[in-house]
Amino acid sequence: MNNDKNIHGILLQLPLPKHLDSNDFLSKINPMKDVDGFHPENSGLLFQGKPRFIPCTPLGCVKILEYYKINIKSKYIVVIGRSNIVGKPITSLLSQPFEIGNATVTLCHSHTTNLSDYTKLADIIIAAVGKPNLIKKDMVKDGCIILDIGINRINDHSDKGYHIVGDVDFSSLVEKASYITPVPGGVGPMTISMLMHNTILAAELSIK
Ligand code: NAD
Repeated sequence: MNNDKNIHGILLQLPLPKHLDSNDFLSKINPMKDVDGFHPENSGLLFQGKPRFIPCTPLGCVKILEYYKINIKSKYIVVIGRSNIVGKPITSLLSQPFEIGNATVTLCHSHTTNLSDYTKLADIIIAAVGKPNLIKKDMVKDGCIILDIGINRINDHSDKGYHIVGDVDFSSLVEKASYITPVPGGVGPMTISMLMHNTILAAELSIK
């Protein structure tokens, strides 16, 4: 597939079984077809401020901010979760001197003590943890903007047997936040759209 001219985009469905190292496999994808943007060459370009393929979830968040004309310049953003696919690239992206950028960004994670000391100061909170109701009403300031990336399955008695919630206690925050993305139906569909965006970009780059 790396050499097949009819294939423009390749993604590795994660997570892999525990005995396999995902970074080993990701680095074997042709970086010009790496539509997830996880190849070290593409991560490196992003961190250098010259992105080629931006990982889909961070790019989806940028598009949401852009669409709602939310100016993040000089704003204080708290990103929660430090994965290679969401937390680290979005921290880099939003702090760089891009049009949607120039924010002051703090990256919090599982070893951050007193998470609410940071979230209470934040103009924008981006949660990518995978813990339902981690972010509660008393942890955010009035008018805060919240992008909820978490996807958590909660078992229930519905026909499906479960429903999906984010990392944020949406019902208690919907009045307090000035903008808040729902789960499902918020960042998730944007991630899928950005995968299409990156695939078209890969096709365009292949003929340049
Ligand atoms: P991950 O699952 O690899 O890691 C979770 C991160 O949360 C770690 O960096 C850890 O340090 C941090 N963390 C754990 N407990 C914490 C705590 N109590 N306080 C602060 N930080 C804590 O991360 P991931 O792959 O980015 O996934 C995170 C969530 O986002 C998952 O629910 C995943 O399903 C979801 N996700 C959604 C989309 C989407 O399109 N909406 C895309 C990717 C991931």
